[in-house]
Amino acid sequence: MATPRRPTPAYTAPSSSTIHASSPVYRAIAATASDLSARVLEDSFTLRPCSGQAWTVRAGQVCRITTPLGPQVGDLNVWNAHNPRERDSMGGGQLDQVLTPDGMTRRTVGFGISQWGGRVHDLLGTRCDPYVNLLMGGQSFDFYCHSNLTRAVVAFGLTELDVHDVLNVFQVTGLDEEGKYFMETCPAEQGDYFEFFAEIDVFIDVGDLSAWSWENKENVEMLATTRPLGVEVYSLADPDILECWKEPGSPKYTGMHGIKMPPRNGQEGTNYCGV
Ligand SMILES: [Zn+2]
Repeated sequence: MATPRRPTPAYTAPSSSTIHASSPVYRAIAATASDLSARVLEDSFTLRPCSGQAWTVRAGQVCRITTPLGPQVGDLNVWNAHNPRERDSMGGGQLDQVLTPDGMTRRTVGFGISQWGGRVHDLLGTRCDPYVNLLMGGQSFDFYCHSNLTRAVVAFGLTELDVHDVLNVFQVTGLDEEGKYFMETCPAEQGDYFEFFAEIDVFIDVGDLSAWSWENKENVEMLATTRPLGVEVYSLADPDILECWKEPGSPKYTGMHGIKMPPRNGQEGTNYCGV
């Protein structure tokens, strides 16, 4: 019987791959986080509690999500602004590096792992939605994260089918000893922020709602305790910071997933196309 051995990482990429964020550039961008004179505010708004909002961040800009009135989690979706079929998968793909946070919240920089094994900025779960809630015996409700995200993208020509699994910003989650998913109290404090650098033009959608974003949730009404989220989009005042950065291109796969059409005789020498 073979000796058990530690499995090796399944996916690796050469250091030249655009999968890797260029660390010196990211460190330089992060250094501007505490010096707002190093940034130019391009857009800002405050997201109504229990709502969703979508907006665009251009390549080379920094987007910041804030907690202006205290703890609150947000469900984040990201698409290529020019092709909504290309979207963050949270498991692999080009947009993963877009999501690489360069300046995490003050508290969550050092959050690490909670005593229960929870980690912040959840990728384990998905957004809450009315379908699962009804399946689990709940009441019909129109303002779960999935619905908030859906309403926000409809105005931009996307649909419910474009809404996908989220990055739960400021949410602490984990799996218990039985492998069951759990959520902990949101660790963000008033004025904390989560931010990311956009490597390509991206279309962002954030839904604001969670029953687990405050303490002692058992005795309070969800709608009465959900807080607003703030959004700020910045350009860098010093363009030299991005001198060594290059916007990554699409993978440009042009195969047909192995599909081969049978040859059709008698049409040699024509300029026909069509499969
Ligand atoms: Zn939710």
